[in-house]
Amino acid sequence: MNGTNGEMMQKFELEVSYCIDCKKCWDVCPVNKVTEGNIYTPQGKIESLAKVVAGEELTQEEYDNIYLSSRCGACDDVCPVNIPITDIIQYERQLLAEQGREPAKTTAISNNIIKHNSPGAKDPSKRFDWVTDDLDLAESSEIAYMAGCWVSYSQQEVARATIRLLNHAGIRPMMLKEEKCCGLFLIDSGHFEQAAEHAKKFVDYIESLGVKKVIASCPGCYLVLSHDYPKLYRELNFEVEHSLNIFKDMIDKGILKPQKLDLTVAVRDACPLRETKDVPRSILTSMGVEIKELFDGKQVCCGGPAGLKPNFPDIANDIAMLTVQSYKDKADMLASYCPFCVHHMSGACESKNEEMKIKDVSVLLAESVLGEDFIRKKA
Ligand code: SF4
Ligand code: SF4
Repeated sequence: MNGTNGEMMQKFELEVSYCIDCKKCWDVCPVNKVTEGNIYTPQGKIESLAKVVAGEELTQEEYDNIYLSSRCGACDDVCPVNIPITDIIQYERQLLAEQGREPAKTTAISNNIIKHNSPGAKDPSKRFDWVTDDLDLAESSEIAYMAGCWVSYSQQEVARATIRLLNHAGIRPMMLKEEKCCGLFLIDSGHFEQAAEHAKKFVDYIESLGVKKVIASCPGCYLVLSHDYPKLYRELNFEVEHSLNIFKDMIDKGILKPQKLDLTVAVRDACPLRETKDVPRSILTSMGVEIKELFDGKQVCCGGPAGLKPNFPDIANDIAMLTVQSYKDKADMLASYCPFCVHHMSGACESKNEEMKIKDVSVLLAESVLGEDFIRKKA
């Protein structure tokens, strides 16, 4: 975040005053969609700013509302007077943390990232359990692959599909042996000092390896490294690419040659990549996959990120169900390109006894280019 605390406070207080009460943010907010009575609107979240700044007591609803946000950005996108709603929520969370008033789970997850390098304090020795003998990984390379926490610990087939496709295209990336959580949760929670320290350590490590490009499977990792680290630390001496951008380019150049998959999918878009939704669609179209749009093409978050899932699991699960219920009458399965969406929605389905069929676009592409048997044998 740029500017001093006082400057940010003044800027945000001024911006909140621009609100024209149009309620457009109400309609797009997934939290407001699944809760009754319009008590958790984005507008309401920013209206608490003055009280938070003054350190005043908040009602339970006002307090919960600040943490009832995935910071998906849907409200920012529709606000006609360009109020930076998600930045203000982040700032409120920063102040509440500084005042010792943030939820205990938010503090615990932040500490896990700092101490154990993953939000869930997973065993670091298992981070590379996705690596199988057939994957061709270099000891040292200018191209590094970052699987990220959710792929490493719960969506390992995404990493395998990605490396197999890169190998097929003649690329041997190296792993980041000291890979860390990207720290998105710290940023979403307004923990800027912790996030800056974390960014410095990770960037210095990557640069010490001579890496010139990091390929990330997770949209969150991609966004944090490419957009947040330069603000938190400094300009990076390496590029960051989301894997799907690389694959689209390879398909366009004829390096990867997808075969037809007889499928109809509904695309579960990832909020951090909502401005490049054409990329996964172009890849799916190159495989002959029929695409159906969820929510008439409008962005609706999965409901998991930014502390929504740990702090408000029931509401987070209800939001996940919006996607699950919406795909079933139009497609064979969901196609995702965010491992956290898959992780959250799978957990929500389990808790609600719901069935869901979902595959990552990278896995579908590996099946299309390399053949389904190949994936099944080696996964
Ligand atoms: S960022 Fe998303 S979840 Fe948060 S207030 Fe805005 S629309 Fe609602
Ligand atoms: S969309 Fe913007 S102007 Fe309209 S109610 Fe929400 S915050 Fe206020």
